Amino acid sequence: MKPKIAVVGSFNTDLTVFTPRMPAPGETILGGPYYTGPGGKGANQAVAAARLGAQVSMVVKLGQDYYGDQALENLVQEGIDTRGVIRTADTHTGVAFIVVDQQGENMIVVASGANAQLTPADIDGVRDVITGADIVLLQLEIPMETVAYTAALAHAAGVTVLLNPAPAQPLSADLLAHVDYLTPNESEAQLISGLPVADVVGAEAAARWLTAQGVRTPVITLGAKGALASGAGGFMHVPGRKVEVVDTTGAGDAFNGALAVALGEGKDLAAAVAFANTAAALQVTQRGTAPAMPRREAVESFLT
Ligand code: ADP
Repeated sequence: MKPKIAVVGSFNTDLTVFTPRMPAPGETILGGPYYTGPGGKGANQAVAAARLGAQVSMVVKLGQDYYGDQALENLVQEGIDTRGVIRTADTHTGVAFIVVDQQGENMIVVASGANAQLTPADIDGVRDVITGADIVLLQLEIPMETVAYTAALAHAAGVTVLLNPAPAQPLSADLLAHVDYLTPNESEAQLISGLPVADVVGAEAAARWLTAQGVRTPVITLGAKGALASGAGGFMHVPGRKVEVVDTTGAGDAFNGALAVALGEGKDLAAAVAFANTAAALQVTQRGTAPAMPRREAVESFLT
């Protein structure tokens, strides 16, 4: 049985330009190549989960504009159910302006547009998508009150809640109490817990803190070092996979999409984290975010 995953989150059109160097304030420079494609943590994680074999629905707000039309088309192409897509004429589809220099350093400005207008009332309008899922997957690129509302709704309906707390923001105790799996990276774990998280030992302390706040299972991602999970059986550090890294953008999104799929399939925590590490490692061997998400067959063959 394919697990049913509802992703409630953002879509941004990524507008990326590669430049020889970063422009100084007030300066104009000639750059290129230029690339536009689907992005946003919500959409990236939805694509990751869909490519790994889950039945994915996406709840997202898009503008009534060209990028919104493209976004919808892209979700359909990925086999994602779009019953939860809401369009608004009040603002534009989210966009991210990304400048990448020759060192691979980037500068990003996001204009959230419709993502910032996804409200609890919108969630009520598509509640069947959420209550009918096995797992709800959330990030923090939509309003915090909508994240909290969705987590509470899903929790009350007995749906597993997986929150990827990115980009980093402080989280209320009320929200944490409705979260089953919380997946910060090192800097997010540090910001949320107030504890230093630079290695596995620091991650253990942060995981212990999160558990005390009511999070059932913290899973802290550690880049190339893999992830530290804390479940019923205590701490487990699941090492990362050794790969040739091309571009780490979107690694966390691949990890979260894959973790949701594995948990939805009933894999135990250690196996689910190993699956997520493997999917994320394959993702960093390719350039880009959503387009770089690996397919099921690739993950299965790299796992064995
Ligand atoms: P984020 O992308 O959100 O900053 P991380 O850097 O912790 O999060 O990466 C998420 C996951 O991606 C890691 O837990 C790991 O599985 C995988 N990953 C990230 N970087 C590498 C790498 N250099 N080599 C192998 N796997 C990686």
